[in-house]
Amino acid sequence: MTEKKKPQHAPITGYPVVDGEITLGGIKLSRLANRVGSTPFFAYDRRLMTARVEEMRKYLPKQVQLHYAMKANPMPAVVHHMASLVDGLDVASSGEMAVALDTGTSPELISFAGPAKTDQELSQAVAAGVVLNMESFGEMRRAAAFGEQQGIRPKAAIRVNPDFELKSSGMKMGGGPKQFGVDAEQVPDMLKEFAALDLDFQGFHIFSGSQNLRVDSILETQEKTLDLAIRLAGDAPCEPPTVNIGGGYGIPYFPGEEPLDLKAAGAGLGELLPAFEEKLPNAEVVIELGRFFVGEAGIYVSKIVDRKVSRGHTFLMTDGGLHHHLAASGNFGQVIRKNYPVEIGNRMAAGEKEEASVVGCLCTPLDLLGNKMELPVAEIGDYVVLFQSGAYGLTASPTAFLGHEAPKEILV
Ligand SMILES: *Cc1c(COP(=O)(O)O)cnc(C)c1O
Repeated sequence: MTEKKKPQHAPITGYPVVDGEITLGGIKLSRLANRVGSTPFFAYDRRLMTARVEEMRKYLPKQVQLHYAMKANPMPAVVHHMASLVDGLDVASSGEMAVALDTGTSPELISFAGPAKTDQELSQAVAAGVVLNMESFGEMRRAAAFGEQQGIRPKAAIRVNPDFELKSSGMKMGGGPKQFGVDAEQVPDMLKEFAALDLDFQGFHIFSGSQNLRVDSILETQEKTLDLAIRLAGDAPCEPPTVNIGGGYGIPYFPGEEPLDLKAAGAGLGELLPAFEEKLPNAEVVIELGRFFVGEAGIYVSKIVDRKVSRGHTFLMTDGGLHHHLAASGNFGQVIRKNYPVEIGNRMAAGEKEEASVVGCLCTPLDLLGNKMELPVAEIGDYVVLFQSGAYGLTASPTAFLGHEAPKEILV
């Protein structure tokens, strides 16, 4: 009888095991830890990022421009590396804009989206010459005023809150009432006002959500997005130079999840483009992604400082925790807590296993990094590795909570 074993976690492929240890960028985990000098730390593998971009170039239609959405991982070295691979960067604050400009990326290839932009941010963005994705009538008027003040014609696109939603998406950011973008129904009026202002029309930005693993729902959204852009272009001062159709490509985190079929996603988009290009032949189609580029390229490593058994349940106590990696604790947008892929990174050779929970060093029951997982029997000093940690890790975590030191980050 063959009993199908439930997967312990999402498939992990980028970290070959050598001598019972996982490797990152060809370096064994223990050596990597010695190099960093202390735990916990995040380590990112540039080769995995490069490979991912190459895979995208292979499967997506050639004319589609790839942008990296920096908020997934804004470590300057990572952004620098990504900037050398992709066609543009998307930022969501003036802090991110500064890092993006430091890479030498030309400002017209940097777009700035995000709700509640302050006067200071708008003024800085106008001065920098980046593309402003305007999220309201008010932002448009303020941007135009800063342009006049500075003697610069601001580059501006309209971020549209579409009249549909991305189905099966982990995080919906469009459709219904939203703080993001301008409702599609209001865009014709906005375009009328736009035409009367001294703004350089850059097109539309239509982002409806992220973390989607289903090709059919991604393609359905892309089709609706391209149609919406064509409809809205009818009221625009000129043909939109760019149409940013958002992203949405997800990565597998949890047991049972499988990687997105990128080949099918790329082929499907390829079938949608001719109809769009017939209507808007000069509009460049942009896809913006964060986690899909970098999420699988990073790990979070902590050390076991204690182990104990409480009423029959084994706890591996680490020096890490949700203050560094909120998402892995299940408190960053998940409805039901599920385990991220976790391994004891220096015990990958076959050996005795046990059921254990991995916890961090914070004095709260929320600080759970792995719940009742089957793991190799681990000892104090062993390394706990959380995979899929290249996106929404450190900078999406409450590092000040409980006053522990910040972890280091390296790009290998
Ligand atoms: C967060 C965000 C992204 C990136 O989402 P991922 O899931 O990391 O790909 C892209 N565009 C906008 C506007 C965003 O807010």
